[in-house]
Amino acid sequence: MDYEQVIGKIYEEVKSFWGQGKVADYIPALAEVEPRQYGIAVQTLKGQAYQVGDAETRFSVQSISKVFSLAMVTRHLGDELWKSVGREPSGNPFNSLVQLEHEQGIPRNPFINAGALVVTDRLMSLYNRPKDAIIEFVRSVCGNDDIYYDKQIAQSEREHAERNLALAHFMKSFGNIKNDVETLIDVYCHQCAISMSCVDLSRAFLFLANRGLNPFNREQILTVSQAKRLGALMLTCGFYDESGDFAFRAGLPGKSGVGGGVAAYIPGNLVITVWSPELNRHGNSLIGMETLERFTTDIGNSIF
Ligand code: GLU
Repeated sequence: MDYEQVIGKIYEEVKSFWGQGKVADYIPALAEVEPRQYGIAVQTLKGQAYQVGDAETRFSVQSISKVFSLAMVTRHLGDELWKSVGREPSGNPFNSLVQLEHEQGIPRNPFINAGALVVTDRLMSLYNRPKDAIIEFVRSVCGNDDIYYDKQIAQSEREHAERNLALAHFMKSFGNIKNDVETLIDVYCHQCAISMSCVDLSRAFLFLANRGLNPFNREQILTVSQAKRLGALMLTCGFYDESGDFAFRAGLPGKSGVGGGVAAYIPGNLVITVWSPELNRHGNSLIGMETLERFTTDIGNSIF
């Protein structure tokens, strides 16, 4: 398959979608990002890499980081985690509070903010220096030590974290948050502010496409069964309240973030990442969604 040609053609066609979405503006530092940027990277398990456009420009991975924190916690806690977080799509926006009261402080899934906060809270109980542990983990799965937090974005989100603070306090009232809420929000805002490019992310997701095995250092990060579960959660819950539509259009497990990034993969085969900061009304990269749909259609391959 000539992936270079496939992504080159998609890039030229989908560029015309510029101007139809809107850059996230609920965190001031994200609102400053130049909207008309677009990159695609493909990384195969066999070691081939392809890219087009702004694939080496770093951006804020935001909710894509929830996959890394979940992998870190899953490998230590295993199925224990599922006592505190559900596995159902929520059908609600990423930062919604409404289901939590009915469901006694147990978030629907680990990718809505409430669920991700529980995961980060467990991570804080597992590691003495959670911020260092997260960045070291991402560096190791990416095979690249040059990955950092964007301190300005972390600070900006921290200053506008009222809703995440509310979610965390609310869950703490049900006993589902164990650590100090202010510290939890600080760690969470940092993990969202990891700065990576499409090329970095396409490498960092390889272990998921590779049944949990990190191809860079041959470390089995997740068991085959845990990798299956993470993939299933991405397929069903990875795109906020548009997860069903993403599965329908692209047919891949993946995760998006409000920074405009999307990372998805074909198990046993490849990772594809897209970045374009203009979002659709569900908070997913408008160009990212379109690109992924065209990619699996053009190559005639998905998980189905
Ligand atoms: N840092 C964001 C928040 O919690 C993550 C949002 C996202 O990418 O979905 O509000």
